[in-house]
Amino acid sequence: MTDDRRAKTRAHWLETMAAHRKDPDGPGSEDYWSPALDTASRDELRAIQNAKIKAVTPFLYENSPFYRRRFDGLGLVPSDIQSVEDLVKWPVVDKSEMMEDAVANPPNGTYSTMDDGLWSRRGWMMFSSSGSTGVARVFRYSQIDRELWSWANARAMHAMGMRPSDTAFVCSGYGPHVFAWGVQFALARMNIAAIPGGGMDSQARAGIVDRFKPTVLICTPSYALHLGRVMEDKGLDPKASSIRLLFVGGEPASGITNTRARLETLWAARLVEFYGCTEAAPHAGGYSCSHSAIDPAEITAHLMEDLQVWELVGDQGHQPVATGERGLTVCTNLNSESSPQLRFLVGDYTRFDPTPCGCGRGHVRALGAFAGRADDLINLRGIKMYPVQLEQAVRAVPGIGDEYEIVITTNEDGLDVMTARVEHAGSDPAAGIAQSVRDEIRSRCEVRASVEVLEPDTLEKTEFKAKRVRDLR
Ligand SMILES: [Zn+2]
Repeated sequence: MTDDRRAKTRAHWLETMAAHRKDPDGPGSEDYWSPALDTASRDELRAIQNAKIKAVTPFLYENSPFYRRRFDGLGLVPSDIQSVEDLVKWPVVDKSEMMEDAVANPPNGTYSTMDDGLWSRRGWMMFSSSGSTGVARVFRYSQIDRELWSWANARAMHAMGMRPSDTAFVCSGYGPHVFAWGVQFALARMNIAAIPGGGMDSQARAGIVDRFKPTVLICTPSYALHLGRVMEDKGLDPKASSIRLLFVGGEPASGITNTRARLETLWAARLVEFYGCTEAAPHAGGYSCSHSAIDPAEITAHLMEDLQVWELVGDQGHQPVATGERGLTVCTNLNSESSPQLRFLVGDYTRFDPTPCGCGRGHVRALGAFAGRADDLINLRGIKMYPVQLEQAVRAVPGIGDEYEIVITTNEDGLDVMTARVEHAGSDPAAGIAQSVRDEIRSRCEVRASVEVLEPDTLEKTEFKAKRVRDLR
């Protein structure tokens, strides 16, 4: 293909994204950043998705060797995929396929539409997948992506209730992870003042909350818990602090009832969250709106459907599940110059509800939010469970501390066994805690676990992402 044709395809893709980007510089109304897009009907959303799919497939074919090889291998050409209905022709892409490409084509892989020429002309930042499994994959983004991210995140953060009168305290290490950076650029777009909280310890951060009175705390859920306890240890009451919103990302939180309750009680603040991944977007895919916790038993998160196509597929064979059924998340990203993706398996279990939300948005909602990645599945003697189920179980027991760990080992008989190690919270340690934890794990995960009740402050304190399951088999 000629450079001229490639340039025309790129220009058409950029024009298509721009044509559907409303209210780039400020909110269109008090309730909605982009009223026409946020309250669009399902038919309007579908028309936008189709226009973007039609423009993105030739762009991917011409700019990503990974995509070109896949089209050729499937015997497809870009014009075979012109609409949401056509997507099913394209088998789901999973991380392992990207990892193989990254290993074969170091250091950047070829799954991105960013080449070295574009990187030198308008490169913005390089991020890395969190890589809890396998090799880390890098993603380079352009200055156009910066604009697209900050606008998309501003729409989501406006829906959470963040306004220019807020001051946000971002407790992040500012490493090559998308969450904090995407939020930081959106804060600037929203005219919300920020306090960057990188490179300081928790004592210093507790002092900042106390002295400078930020209203929004932005961090992982594990860190929000940790910082609240540090404040208490300093004699400062997080409940009485200026924090009104706990804005978390990076780990499942709002869908875990007992964790959400613990955080909201500790800080006397509302918990809101972002959901997404480095590969597809990478601005927020999902976010909490004002109605996300109207029914505390059924937390919801919206997905940004004018910017992405979200589907749920079965864990075997990755075929689409029926409406309302549980499945794994798959994202077709239609909002990036450098990382558009077709049917990337993000891989969290949830159910979708396409009915309109009380907030006025028609974008699909994930019921129960997101409950952890399928990669994290634990298999104990044939019984399968997710870390999030164990967290639900442990957090259901009153009188225990914030830290816990689950250790899985093989005993001398060759049997795999699970031990839950929890701390009592200072009260009478014998008051049935071990039995309660055992019972909760048994009823929620259908496995027998032994339980050790430890003295407070025995377990290592979790700061950023918690790794609470130690599989020593
Ligand atoms: Zn809503």
